[in-house]
Amino acid sequence: MKPLSKKILGISESPTLSLNAKVKELKSRGVDVVNFTVGEPDFDTPDNVKKAAIDAIKAGFTKYTPVSGIPELKQAIAEKLKRDNGISYDAKQIIVSCGGKHSLYNAFQAICNPGDEVIIPSPYWVTYPEQVKLAEARPVFVKTREENGFRLLAKDLEKCVNKKTKAIIINSPCNPTGAVYDPAELEKIATIAVDNDVFVVSDEIYENLVYEGRHVSIASFGDEIKARTITINGASKAYAMTGWRIGWAAGPADIVKAMDNFQSQTTSNPTSISQKAYLEGLQGRQDSVHRMAAEFRKRRDIIVSRLNGIPGIKCSRPSGAFYAFPNVSGAFRSGIKNSMDFSMQLLEKARVAVVPGSDFGAEGYVRISYACSADTIEKGVERIKEFVSKL
Ligand code: PLP
Repeated sequence: MKPLSKKILGISESPTLSLNAKVKELKSRGVDVVNFTVGEPDFDTPDNVKKAAIDAIKAGFTKYTPVSGIPELKQAIAEKLKRDNGISYDAKQIIVSCGGKHSLYNAFQAICNPGDEVIIPSPYWVTYPEQVKLAEARPVFVKTREENGFRLLAKDLEKCVNKKTKAIIINSPCNPTGAVYDPAELEKIATIAVDNDVFVVSDEIYENLVYEGRHVSIASFGDEIKARTITINGASKAYAMTGWRIGWAAGPADIVKAMDNFQSQTTSNPTSISQKAYLEGLQGRQDSVHRMAAEFRKRRDIIVSRLNGIPGIKCSRPSGAFYAFPNVSGAFRSGIKNSMDFSMQLLEKARVAVVPGSDFGAEGYVRISYACSADTIEKGVERIKEFVSKL
């Protein structure tokens, strides 16, 4: 048999999705597992959004649409960018795709050449390095530190930028750390990008989930940085629409055109019905978005205080998203040498699933999603406490 593609063999499976599959398999066998691995809101999609989709089906809106999305959705996204982020875009600068992950993939394919470097602050979302490699570029990691709230500092970034640097990824609020960038630091990062003429891929998918500080889009710091930024966002987290697969990118018209061409030869348009649903999400009542964010905030406070009550575990308070990222290295004993051992033993012995920090480039930590009920949080943390006490 001939070998498979070297490019595909060189990337790894999404560890969060594979862990999630393992948990589902255990659950299907009747095992009572507390699943802290999921990266999606546990809330249902709002009713007005569902109704818009049903109406679209009934009206026969079930055919191909323009590759980059229906004009009224792109218009609604442009209005959202103006209203919430203070940035003006026209329809030629916006492309809707099959989820934020797809938007990111298109963006890296559009801007990268073999040998280019893409700077990724670590801890990072697992998908970034793999997508950069798929675009035949090289991921370059720049460490952020817990004492700085896991925010990238301009002075650390500056040391990594060179002639080969093509882009910098900014993810605020951040998965897995919940870090929300400080506007002043973000502006310094923008200056570095402009001075060195590199692109910024700004993943703002958790924009609505900010509990301290405020969300600022890096593209809002002026025309020069806007001309180099591809802003990524979507329906999944804000509107509890993970299964609908809608994400989008806003950026310079030539980059968006390149993404459009690429998308036209790969997936074509995102699902027609989902586009109508998200249009209602953006234009309809926003009370469910605010309700979900308020609930996540309450859960964050519960989980952080409970985790800090466990000897050997230290958890900073994340400012956004729905993940806690505790340092568990103080509990490494009884054969546990790293975050992978910790996570595997926790699943086997205490039936709690968390994602090891090593998957995000941060050994010593684990990621705990609090996109689950307060009762589940209490139950899971109690199990972790008992597990650690027996080590
Ligand atoms: N960006 C980050 C940081 C994420 O955590 C996720 C999903 O977990 C995405 C992008 C993509 O989400 P989706 O493809 O569902 O829009």
